[in-house]
Amino acid sequence: MITFSGVSKFYGDFQVLKNIDFSARAGERIVICGPSGSGKSTLIRCINGLEAHQSGTITVDGIRLGADAASTRKVRSEVGMVFQQFNLFPHLTVIENLMLGPVRARGMSRPAARDLAMRYLNRVRIPEQAEKYPRQLSGGQQQRVAIARSLCMEPRIMLFDEPTSALDPEMINEVLDVMVELAGTGMTMIVVTHEMGFARKVADRMVFMDHGEIVEVAPPAEFFTAPKSRRCQDFLQKIL
Ligand code: ADP
Ligand code: MG
Repeated sequence: MITFSGVSKFYGDFQVLKNIDFSARAGERIVICGPSGSGKSTLIRCINGLEAHQSGTITVDGIRLGADAASTRKVRSEVGMVFQQFNLFPHLTVIENLMLGPVRARGMSRPAARDLAMRYLNRVRIPEQAEKYPRQLSGGQQQRVAIARSLCMEPRIMLFDEPTSALDPEMINEVLDVMVELAGTGMTMIVVTHEMGFARKVADRMVFMDHGEIVEVAPPAEFFTAPKSRRCQDFLQKIL
């Protein structure tokens, strides 16, 4: 579903991604962790063409990214993304936030978009918040809305970039629970997080990044009990 082959990316002279080889199968759940500044956000932003890379190739669902504008658009239509900051439109109600993409980008009728939005609000278990504005919701509820908004575009792949890092501790689980359920539907998911309980529960494979490199890839059982590299051992010691 996703293939990186020899991918490098630079910001000026600074190499943020170093010769990345990586692939994910359809339905696979990958958790990426690693120190701050190691390139995790940059890597996943490359998957939907939010960041351009300078060498190597990235293909998503058979489409090569960066080949032309049309292929980038096609990839973006298949990839949903949830950020640390929820990025909801403050002047729109929850349901309007959800309907916006389907109506504007898909040309869906408003009644059809409303039905779709309600279906996904139910999926994230906050249908009763539909007519409220984002500021009237807790952080955890806002992040659930952001997840539902992505799902309304019916993506084949969901990317999550530290989706619980901006939340108060008591709200983290209500977001992780929704993500665990989503994982159960067979969605291909790439999740940058340091929530290791979540990782153990849903990850098919763990990826550890450091200084722009993928240092280690292993199933959680192996990753947590017998990390091979010194860098990964040190990192896990700090966060567990
Ligand atoms: P992570 O998500 O693992 O914390 P990032 O992918 O955000 O790491 O960033 C990796 C490195 O690239 C960091 O050193 C960061 O300072 C640098 N970086 C990120 N974005 C930019 C940018 N737009 N311009 C220059 N450097 C950047
Ligand atoms: Mg980041």
